[in-house]
Amino acid sequence: MKRTILFLFVLVLLVAGCATPAKRTDTVFQTSTINALLAGIYDGDITLREVLENGDFGLGTYNHLAGEMILYESQFYQIKPDGSAYRPVLSTKTPYVTVCRFKADETFPTPEGFSMDDVKKFLDHRLPNHNLFYAIKITGVFKTMKTRTIVAQKKPYPPLKEVVKHQIVFHMKEVAGTIVGFRCPEYIKGINVPNYHLHFISKDGKRGGHVLGFTLRKGRCEIDMLNRFLMVLPSGVKEFAKANLSKDQSKALKRVEQK
Ligand SMILES: [Zn+2]
Repeated sequence: MKRTILFLFVLVLLVAGCATPAKRTDTVFQTSTINALLAGIYDGDITLREVLENGDFGLGTYNHLAGEMILYESQFYQIKPDGSAYRPVLSTKTPYVTVCRFKADETFPTPEGFSMDDVKKFLDHRLPNHNLFYAIKITGVFKTMKTRTIVAQKKPYPPLKEVVKHQIVFHMKEVAGTIVGFRCPEYIKGINVPNYHLHFISKDGKRGGHVLGFTLRKGRCEIDMLNRFLMVLPSGVKEFAKANLSKDQSKALKRVEQK
């Protein structure tokens, strides 16, 4: 009899344990700050191998600002000025990344014909907490996809707003692929990009870039809510040590992100 009671007690505990929602441990991992990148600090001291220890999904750039970065399904893509996506070696370093381990919390089919602005509005209505971070994955066929990449720089590095004046823009049509991005809260300005920051990689892994605009033919959007934020700063980079990173760079950022 005693055993039966003990068994029931253990069973109740187990059921109660299962009913308690698991503690969320979804983490945004970032290196350096967006203001450091805007200030022309294009060398970091963290390798892609180290980034992979912290995520399988995300975006950023490479040392010397050598092209846009996409991290998708644990594969890095580097968009070079010819518009092609290359696979960098894992010893390559990065001055700036934002990554996570992507695990979809919710999936939304996105209506046909949606533009980038439509998708942003659509998501803004559906994301339950605008003070958290979200990883955004949109998979589909795009009627149009406008991306850009940037060209590797030599020292002394010009600020990012000067570099993007010479950005290379690509116009793709009827392209299948995936948008990899984030929505960050407004209060993150200076550190990361507030609101949406999206990169694209085609399904064949050959083309992509920083997204400037698109029209969806059909697709689905997956979101992963992220409530932890981890920053690793480039302590070994002397330019980072000297830079003034507290200036309000909102206007420069807008030009850099949406041009
Ligand atoms: Zn970008």
